[in-house]
Amino acid sequence: MRRASREAARAGLSGLIVTPSADLIYLTRYDPPPLERLTALVLRPDRDPILMVPELEKPRAEHDGVGKLAELVPWRDGQEPYARLAKLLGRRGRYAVSDRMPARHLLGLQRAAPSVAFEPAAGVLAALRAVKDAAEIDFLRRAARGADEAFGRIADERLEGLREEQVAARLADLLLETGHDQVAFTIVASGPNGASPHHEPGGRTIQGGEAVVLDFGGRVGGYCSDISRTVAVERTPREFEDVYRVVQEAQEAAFRAVRPGVPAEEVDRTARAVIERAGYGDRFVHRTGHGIGLDEHEEPYIVAGNTTPLAAGMCFSIEPGIYLDGAFGVRIEDIVTVTDTGAERLNHASRDLRITA
Ligand code: ZN
Ligand code: ZN
Ligand code: ZN
Repeated sequence: MRRASREAARAGLSGLIVTPSADLIYLTRYDPPPLERLTALVLRPDRDPILMVPELEKPRAEHDGVGKLAELVPWRDGQEPYARLAKLLGRRGRYAVSDRMPARHLLGLQRAAPSVAFEPAAGVLAALRAVKDAAEIDFLRRAARGADEAFGRIADERLEGLREEQVAARLADLLLETGHDQVAFTIVASGPNGASPHHEPGGRTIQGGEAVVLDFGGRVGGYCSDISRTVAVERTPREFEDVYRVVQEAQEAAFRAVRPGVPAEEVDRTARAVIERAGYGDRFVHRTGHGIGLDEHEEPYIVAGNTTPLAAGMCFSIEPGIYLDGAFGVRIEDIVTVTDTGAERLNHASRDLRITA
């Protein structure tokens, strides 16, 4: 919180207002339920942090220890929380609010404090959160190791004849068995469904001779895992081996492009160049990756236009894909962390073409 206040002051802000989100967890470890009632952390340079909480949440806030980090200011149902908060902010000034602040809170606050300017806090908080410390990388490493093991086990099981939703349920169990404390998502996209990158697993039965995209993740200590592997069931469909080789090569080339100082977009460009050269450029329909931490998707985004230089401690996915409508999709995704001299993969499940039962 001290660093965030300092960065806010450096950006010319009067302070930061953070509502329940990964930003609040990052700053305080406090993870309240996403209520419609206002909970807001107010950080101002050279002032002690204040946490406005609904009165009924105060015992839990105290129990969770946030009362030791910030002065708790309770408000009661029937009172007007925005006028209370506006009084704390003063008559003028520029405050940054967390990206995930519900519109109802920001609109209420704007009405109560018409002479205060509000802007997104992303510039200050996202930059802090993007660079992980050793303890955070350790959580991400443990999460990645669990995801690797979950993939290893599902790939050893029989997929042929199962419905996508059954494989998704099995993956959720495996994530919990391999040390995750929460399941976040389980994409199982068989055959032509693989051409939809965020396919919702359904009742389709997986058959021999089909490709299956598996993309799943959970949380360890709040930090996310996220891995994709594409397998062929019993035998490879037509064109699959060529496409797979291109995606694998693009993933490897992007990984080798990572080192401190390289602009994030350069990693995207490297993966895209391999896929374009193979003639599939227009079938790579998304960015190459996203930062990962307390949120599944956060800064730095590995995308054209993001000139942010990579720095040691940043963690993100490298996940190029090729999607052929009506046929199949291939995506290979690892989480990597930037080191002082290059990059390290946190996922170690084999990326080589795997033919399962
Ligand atoms: Zn995705
Ligand atoms: Zn993923
Ligand atoms: Zn991802």
